Amino acid sequence: MKKFLPPERILLGPGPSNIYPEVLEAMSRSTVGHLDPQFIILMDEIKELLRYAFRTKNDITFAVSAPGSLGMETCLVNLVEPGTKVIVCINGVFGGRMKSIVERCGALPVIVEADWGTAIDPDKLEDTLKKNKDASVVAFVHAETSTGAKSDAKVISEIAHKYNCLVIADTVTSLGGIPVLVDEWNFDAVYSGSQKCLSCPPGLSPVTFNDRAVNFIKKRKSPVQSWFMDLNLILGYWSGPAKRAYHHTAPVNALYALHQSLLHLKEEGLENSWKRHEYNGKKLISELNKIGLSPFVKEDERLPQLTSVTIPSGVDDLSIRKTLLDKYNIEIGAGLGALTGKIWRIGLMGYSSNEKNINILVNALKEILS
Ligand code: PLP
Repeated sequence: MKKFLPPERILLGPGPSNIYPEVLEAMSRSTVGHLDPQFIILMDEIKELLRYAFRTKNDITFAVSAPGSLGMETCLVNLVEPGTKVIVCINGVFGGRMKSIVERCGALPVIVEADWGTAIDPDKLEDTLKKNKDASVVAFVHAETSTGAKSDAKVISEIAHKYNCLVIADTVTSLGGIPVLVDEWNFDAVYSGSQKCLSCPPGLSPVTFNDRAVNFIKKRKSPVQSWFMDLNLILGYWSGPAKRAYHHTAPVNALYALHQSLLHLKEEGLENSWKRHEYNGKKLISELNKIGLSPFVKEDERLPQLTSVTIPSGVDDLSIRKTLLDKYNIEIGAGLGALTGKIWRIGLMGYSSNEKNINILVNALKEILS
C-alpha cells in the first residue's frame, strides 16, 4: 500500500460536488483544540454564516458533526415523541428514510405519497391532515435528490401549521442552490448537508431550530432517545455567550472547510448563487435537448441543481456511466429504486455548477451516444 492519490474527477452526480480549492486549503490548516478560544470564535462565525445561508434569525443554528442523514435524525429524534403521529411526505428515497427514522422513534408515520419524479401534492397533504388531526409533525424533502423534483416548501409549511403541526424540512440539496427561506416559510426544524450546493467535503449537517421547536423539546414528556443528538446536550457545546462545555470532539478541520465555503457563498451572494444554479440548470437542459436527451421531471417541478434525464431506450446505463468515468473523468448519478436504468441524475451543484462543465459533459455524452 502507498499514499492514496485520488483522481481529479469532474463531479456532476447527486453529490458530493467538486470542492472549492480554498475550502480544500482551509481543511489542511493546523488543527487546534475544539475548546480553543480561537475555535469558539470560528464556531460563532459559522453560526452567523449559516443564519445567512438559511435566511433565519434562529439562535439555534449550527452544524451537526455528521452527514445529512444525521441532521435528519437529529431533527426527528428531538421533535418526535414515542406514540405520536407524524405525517411523512414521500416522493423518493429520502422521504422513505424519514419514515424509517420515525418508526425507530416509536412513533406512527402517516404517509403522503407522490410518484417519484413529481412534487408532493399540497391537497393530498391537507386531506391527510384533516383525517389525522392528532398528528404533531409534518416532515418533507424540499429537493428530492433521488429524482430531481422540487416540492412547494412554502405551501406545505402553511398547511402543516394550519393543523398545528411542527414542520421539519430536508434542505440537503436545496441550501445554496434554490431559495430556502427558513423564517419567511416558517420552518420549525431544518437540516442540510455540506457536500451539495455548499461545495464543502461531505460529513457535516447544518441545522436550524426555531423557538417553537426548542420549546417543544424543553417540554417533551420523554427524554430524547439518542445521547449524541439530544439538542439539550449538544447546545452546551455550540451555544451560549460564555464558556462552552465538552460534548464530543468536534471535527475541527471539517469546520474550517465549512466556514470557508460559507464565506464563499456570502461573497458570491445568496441570490447570485441561486441565479447561477438556475441559469446553468436551464442551459444544461437546452444542451441535452440538442443531443436528443430529455428531462424526466416536468418544468415547474424541476431542480436546477439536479437534473434527471430519461435514458433513451436501447442505451445501456452502466456502460455509459463507466465510459464517462474511465475516459472523461466525469461522474454522473444512476437512477435509484424503480428508476434504476431509467434515468441519469446530473448534478450542477456549488463549484460544479458552471458552463464549462456543461459543455464537457454534453460533448462527452454526444461522442459516446453516437
Ligand atoms: N436528504 C437528501 C435530500 C439527500 O440528497 C441526502 C444525500 O444525498 C440526504 C438526505 C442524506 O445525506 P448524507 O448522504 O450526507 O447522509
